[in-house]
Amino acid sequence: MKPRPFDYRRAASVEEACRLLAGPGEPRVIAGGQSLVPMMNLRLVSPGLLVDIGGLAELRTVTLAGEALHVGALVRHREVETDPLVARYVPLLANAVRHVAHQAVRNRGTLGGSLCHADPAAEFPACMLVLEATMHIASTGAERTVAAGDFFRGMFATALEPGEMLTGVSIPLAAARDPAALHEMSRRHGDLALAGIVGRRGHGLERWAAFGIEDRAVRLAHLEALLAAKPQAGEAEMLAALAIDLPSTAGAGTAGRAKLVIAAELARRCRDDIDRVSEAA
Ligand SMILES: Cc1cc2nc3c(=O)[nH]c(=O)nc-3n(C[C@H](O)[C@H](O)[C@H](O)COP(=O)(O)OP(=O)(O)OC[C@H]3O[C@@H](n4cnc5c(N)ncnc54)[C@H](O)[C@@H]3O)c2cc1C
Repeated sequence: MKPRPFDYRRAASVEEACRLLAGPGEPRVIAGGQSLVPMMNLRLVSPGLLVDIGGLAELRTVTLAGEALHVGALVRHREVETDPLVARYVPLLANAVRHVAHQAVRNRGTLGGSLCHADPAAEFPACMLVLEATMHIASTGAERTVAAGDFFRGMFATALEPGEMLTGVSIPLAAARDPAALHEMSRRHGDLALAGIVGRRGHGLERWAAFGIEDRAVRLAHLEALLAAKPQAGEAEMLAALAIDLPSTAGAGTAGRAKLVIAAELARRCRDDIDRVSEAA
């Protein structure tokens, strides 16, 4: 199948991109095109105007900014994988990206594209929840920030309003350096996750999230409370906490309960990894 006809503009600045996005034609940003183009080919989405932000070099940088690592929206998955600042300051992301798709997709796909696409099975949104990242959003003549916890609104839905685009994320260094782990189950390596768990422990706090389970990446408040009170909680206790954190899955019959069991096993693996890293530190 081919996409419906559309216009195409390559933006020369964030300002121009935002102006085009605020205009007519149901415009959409195109970044790496790895999710958008297949969706257009299947006619799941049919924007009348594609605003190509691929030339905006200022969105393709990784920089230390005060107490945070700022990662531009156009930083490609491959660059997340190889960037020395990411490896040094946010090892969780460097680990997570190895689960994202295959090399060919990682060479084109961008961090911002993954976050704005908001696939419930994607790794990066869950990582942003656990790292308590801040999302930077631009529109014509304005900028705002949104906490990652408020950004993901549902399946393929985010807090972005018409006329807005994501310019990057800031990850607090204090959180980024904490021991953290991610485990997922997928049919083949590089496929989207059937279920995934990511966790971080630091300063007496537990921060955990699930992906590939509910309609979006979700924080796991009951699992966090359990592990803060009882770091060596057994898998059955973790399963009980997850059943409260993931209510639609818990209520989804046998398949849902099977997912919860898998999630509890993935959480145990993450917890064991975090224990090992904490002991070695
Ligand atoms: C075979 C295959 C396997 C994959 N496996 C995985 C996987 O295991 N895990 C995973 O997480 N992903 C996976 N993906 C998706 C991949 O990571 C995509 O690269 C990513 O989801 C989208 O990034 P992109 O830069 O290509 O965005 P695009 O496809 O260009 O855009 C995606 C969406 O985000 C919007 N958008 C993009 N950038 C911005 C911005 N800066 N501001 C506002 N809106 C924006 C677009 O308008 C569009 O709606 C897979 C893709 C393929 C084709």
